[in-house]
Amino acid sequence: MRTKIVAGNWKMNNNYEDSIKLAKDIESKAANLNLNNTRVIVAPTFVNLKGVKDSLGNASVEVVAQNMHQAKNGAYTGEISAEMLQSIGIKTVILGHSERRTYFNETDEALAEKINTVLENNMEAIFCFGEVLEDRKSDNHFNVVESQIKKALFHLKDADWKSIVLAYEPVWAIGTGETASPEQAQDMHAFIRNLVASKYGDAIADNVSILYGGSVKPSNAQEIFSKPDVDGGLIGGAALNVDDFMGIITAAANL
Ligand code: PEP
Repeated sequence: MRTKIVAGNWKMNNNYEDSIKLAKDIESKAANLNLNNTRVIVAPTFVNLKGVKDSLGNASVEVVAQNMHQAKNGAYTGEISAEMLQSIGIKTVILGHSERRTYFNETDEALAEKINTVLENNMEAIFCFGEVLEDRKSDNHFNVVESQIKKALFHLKDADWKSIVLAYEPVWAIGTGETASPEQAQDMHAFIRNLVASKYGDAIADNVSILYGGSVKPSNAQEIFSKPDVDGGLIGGAALNVDDFMGIITAAANL
């Protein structure tokens, strides 16, 4: 059975104190909810990871990283390795976010290496991908997503898939207030699951969680999450407000 997940990507927001306050607020509100096996995840920026993690009392809110370098260590100024993350207890990392691809030139090839590093270190990846508006308008979105997934993930072995979460994030919907309709999300998620099934079989495809990301809000979360191939969300803006984030978590937990 695949897991429902609601993950908040805080991006380059929140200083140290604000991060800890937000995480603790989420934790205390989540304690009053029946999460119904929904994983609740927050992704603070690197310098706040350990403080946030240490401030949380139990495992009801997981703390994950927003990125990671593929090399073991070395002369990569400003970068963070898998071993560094693990040394502070971080086991999961978001990879391939569209902002990383667009502003920091992360290629499919580099992302395949990062995925390998995650697996070598027994970590988990939340792997993001999605088409830009021109691809959607020219009806090329399925091809783009297929290519992104194949290039970064189709060298994996069957057993590796237990360490992979997929996050479909149409770039035109990220931070724009524009959301894919529940039907657009479902169509793409079903396509992705079939794509994984075509190479790895139904059991693996059925077990992989596929998150939707792109302007998810409390007001639209339930409708999107209720689609059969949508297993939760990767949330940007709305994850910075405790009430909005809790609304989204509640939508997932209620399913
Ligand atoms: C994101 O950046 O992953 C994201 C989905 O952002 P937002 O929810 O703000 O669109």
